[in-house]
Amino acid sequence: MSDTSKTVAELAAGLAAGTFSSEEITRAYLERIQGAGADLNAFITVTGDRALEAARAADDRRRSGDAGPLTGVPLAHKDIFCTRDVRTSCGSRMLDNFTAPYDAHVVERCQQAGMVCLGKTNMDEFAMGSSNETSYYGPVKNPWDTDAVPGGSSGGSAAAVAARLAPAATGTDTGGSIRQPAALCGITGLKPTYGRVSRYGMIAFASSLDQGGPMARTAEDCALLLEAMAGFDERDSTSVDRAVPRYSQELTGSLQGLRVGLPKEYFGDGLDPEVARVIDAAIGEYRELGVEFREISLANTELAVPAYYVIAPAECSSNLSRFDGVRFGYRCESPRDLEDLYKRSRGEGFGAEVKRRIMVGTYALSAGYFDAYYRKAQQMRRLIKNDFMAAFEDVDLILGPTSPTPAFNIGERADDPVKMYLSDLYTIAVNLAGLPGISLPAGFAGGRPVGLQLIGNYFDEGRLLNAAHRYQQVTDWHTRAPGAFA
Ligand code: GLN
Repeated sequence: MSDTSKTVAELAAGLAAGTFSSEEITRAYLERIQGAGADLNAFITVTGDRALEAARAADDRRRSGDAGPLTGVPLAHKDIFCTRDVRTSCGSRMLDNFTAPYDAHVVERCQQAGMVCLGKTNMDEFAMGSSNETSYYGPVKNPWDTDAVPGGSSGGSAAAVAARLAPAATGTDTGGSIRQPAALCGITGLKPTYGRVSRYGMIAFASSLDQGGPMARTAEDCALLLEAMAGFDERDSTSVDRAVPRYSQELTGSLQGLRVGLPKEYFGDGLDPEVARVIDAAIGEYRELGVEFREISLANTELAVPAYYVIAPAECSSNLSRFDGVRFGYRCESPRDLEDLYKRSRGEGFGAEVKRRIMVGTYALSAGYFDAYYRKAQQMRRLIKNDFMAAFEDVDLILGPTSPTPAFNIGERADDPVKMYLSDLYTIAVNLAGLPGISLPAGFAGGRPVGLQLIGNYFDEGRLLNAAHRYQQVTDWHTRAPGAFA
């Protein structure tokens, strides 16, 4: 088995046993990123020299007896997380020349754990998209089929992990951007409870929805990574001061008697029959593990996409006002006057999808329309949350598909924003409610991976990870590698 086929847990064990050094495995991943993986366009920036330096430091740390479980394990960061002295582009021409003067909290935490950053992964511009096609740096290819999208917006992270260019990566999820690309690339991705992981240094898209989290091949790896990433940070006012459990130690629980809800709205129109077949088979596996299923109703599910596409653009129009060509980022050539500077810098720096969202959001927040759109959307958001709260009176977890279809082809939905927005039918409500959700590989449809989604109550990541881990103990979907990258 080549080093790049190992999971985070296997790499950690090998490093602890001295079977290989961090420098050796870091070199192997860097070679693969530049070799077999180069055509996928999964990375915007590869930080080879820094990675090798960090790997040698991790090896020293291990020799001196001061290593943690993840010391020396490589990972990649989505290019939305600020990294000191390394460009942070957020997938946009606007930040093509931006080097952050500080590290995001998540980046800091991974560094403190001794993890080695291989580089920054490609993403939809400002995390707005479901296909990675809005990136200024071009689309990412799905390693299972290079005609297909990897999902978005954390498409580079998902493709990198699926193609074994990195054992793990960070992602962010505002409406599905960890879970949907994880599903489309056949890996495991966890969107934590809102407030579990600090947003400090994570470039803001929609602040009341954004949440960072881990993407890896297994639930066990996600547990190890979440332990490192999560925790209170006073620099993010929405960070929750609550102890971080040892998630990786909680993967032993039985599922006997676990009550899991199947929302009838997640199995209706719009769900690809092949995806439905895969989810049904997974339900069968869980039944054998002793899970008790109940039909539930999340009656306001159909409001999730419309509410999100008012709230997220509204917040983005405010967050992105700081990119004005003055303080940092892109500035147009020879502006005539101040007005021209603002207009052309923003006009040339942002891509079409970002502009569409800024315009929708500005409109929804304008004095004459605030009540009709923004206030209404917030009321819908509350109804959606109430549905989940009522469901969790009767069930411990909720199960359904992550995405209504497997990966679609590059270009197929690019001209149809509404069709693209419906890719997140089953993920968006979870962000509106602030709940944790995980996507795990459950099979294939037409040769492309299908993801199963589990949704938990607030701060119930331990139970989610345990349920995902048990499934991975009795199935092998998560061990499959795309043919060209096996
Ligand atoms: N696809 C959704 C959007 O375009 C969600 C993106 C995300 O979670 N960052 O907004």
